[in-house]
Amino acid sequence: MNTQTSHKNLLSWYDKHGRHQLPWRNTDDLYHIYLSEIMLQQTQVNRVRDEYYPQFLQRFSTLKSLGESPLDDVLSMWSGLGYYRRAKNLHKTAQLTQGILPTTLKELKKLPGIGQYTASAICSFGLHQAVTVVDTNISRVIKRYFALLDVSEKVVSEYAKGFLNTHNPRDHNLALMDLGSLVCVPKNPKCDECPLFDSCQGKDEAQLYTKTKKKEYISMELFFGVCIKDGKIALHLSDDNMYKDMLVLPKVEPLEENLLGSFKHAYTKYRLDVHIYSIDELDGEFVWLCAEEFENAPISSLTRKAQKFFHKKGL
Ligand code: SF4
Repeated sequence: MNTQTSHKNLLSWYDKHGRHQLPWRNTDDLYHIYLSEIMLQQTQVNRVRDEYYPQFLQRFSTLKSLGESPLDDVLSMWSGLGYYRRAKNLHKTAQLTQGILPTTLKELKKLPGIGQYTASAICSFGLHQAVTVVDTNISRVIKRYFALLDVSEKVVSEYAKGFLNTHNPRDHNLALMDLGSLVCVPKNPKCDECPLFDSCQGKDEAQLYTKTKKKEYISMELFFGVCIKDGKIALHLSDDNMYKDMLVLPKVEPLEENLLGSFKHAYTKYRLDVHIYSIDELDGEFVWLCAEEFENAPISSLTRKAQKFFHKKGL
């Protein structure tokens, strides 16, 4: 089967089965596309679509308004999404560009937090430029389709470039992305449903081309103190890398007594055992918040979880 036929089959499949309803697929607004790509970097599609993307756009309707808003407001809207550096970079980019994103790969990649992938996604999905976009889904399809064993992502990109449909690069990239997400899935790909079946060189041993490294996690124990006065909880601005610029509970040394309880929390590569103590004394500067004020404050998901935890304890 020649490449043209594969392109045609892929696009017909995309017409029927693609995820066209995703809101960022129905716009050419570069800010909307940029925002969705940044949110989707570490967060599942459904959560971004339902919980964060619409609310964020409602609050910051343009990139310009985002840049003109205080960082705290941006972090507060990002609260719960994790990887807060993404929100800080969005804010910085909004300010640097004064709300107007550049339209070339080269210029986009100069902006904070915009790497090769995000820049090419903006150029392809927003500007319909003939560039390849290679995320984990597309990489898996390309490796299997061309039966590429143990190759670098640079090599995968070269193959993706050679396979690009320059007549409709945007839909071609989106189709490959959806194919990887819905059909050419990591385990047990559904080859009998695949529009590329006839020309796929790796279909007989698909698993061979996408051996994944086992994820490595870092286990840590963290100890926090809860100090409550007049119904308000003491929080301070974190200066450690994990939760930089977010409000967190004060850290304490492991104590002999006053343990309120413990819970587990997963954050990026960390697997945390969190222990919460009741404390009376504090040293340093604190922000005092009542439970209602937690809602709109730039608070880490760990602190939010801790608050729910001790709320259940009747504190
Ligand atoms: S035929 Fe199978 S392995 Fe090849 S691209 Fe399609 S789903 Fe993936």
